[in-house]
Amino acid sequence: MEPLTPEKANYIIAHYMQLLNEPEKIALKQHRHSLKLSELPDGELRTKIYLRNQWLTDEPEILAQLDEGYVQFILNCAGRILKDYPDEVFFNYCAKCGKLARTPRAKQCRFCGYDWHE
Ligand SMILES: [Zn+2]
Repeated sequence: MEPLTPEKANYIIAHYMQLLNEPEKIALKQHRHSLKLSELPDGELRTKIYLRNQWLTDEPEILAQLDEGYVQFILNCAGRILKDYPDEVFFNYCAKCGKLARTPRAKQCRFCGYDWHE
């Protein structure tokens, strides 16, 4: 099998979100909300509110998934998904240039413009 790239991992996370398990979903939410928080003022107060609303977590096991950074985290998730659901993920490669299309249902290549609408 070809190596998993961050691009492929992103594609899986974006289009096969339902295949993430609960701890992975929480970790993903954690990452997105903490990114947003870092851009806002009153970080400390907001962090408390976010924790209360469960937009953030303080569970060490969940947080540990993000220890090696977001890219490694999505590579881990995508690798697990491919192992657990090898038949569910469709990599939509362009027939002309071989690159990965933007979505599993795309019918036009964003790189070379090749169009496979019937
Ligand atoms: Zn192409």
